[in-house]
Amino acid sequence: MTLIDLTPPAARSDRLATLPVAIIGAGPIGLAAAANLVERGLDFLIYEAGDSVADSIRS
Ligand SMILES: Cc1cc2nc3c(=O)[nH]c(=O)nc-3n(C[C@H](O)[C@H](O)[C@H](O)COP(=O)(O)OP(=O)(O)OC[C@H]3O[C@@H](n4cnc5c(N)ncnc54)[C@H](O)[C@@H]3O)c2cc1C
Repeated sequence: MTLIDLTPPAARSDRLATLPVAIIGAGPIGLAAAANLVERGLDFLIYEAGDSVADSIRS
């Protein structure tokens, strides 16, 4: 399934300028999202349920 953000670009950039992005899960996909946000200079928080990064892969 592909999810496309249909929010108009102006509203999207306002939101990103005022709120950090929340990433749920520090698996490969969450870490890839974080890397993209670093490149764009956007603040983010990663929430990981496990004891470490990529906990599900380790287990
Ligand atoms: C047995 C097995 C072998 C595999 N071998 C390979 C391989 O050789 N090569 C390969 O490319 N792929 C392999 N895969 C697939 C690969 O592991 C997945 O494609 C990849 O881990 C998916 O990444 P993800 O970030 O989407 O999810 P996940 O790796 O599952 O990461 C999700 C993270 O989110 C956390 N989380 C979940 N719910 C919450 C919550 N509510 N709040 C906070 N954190 C949460 C989890 O603890 C986890 O760390 C294998 C998978 C399995 C099961």
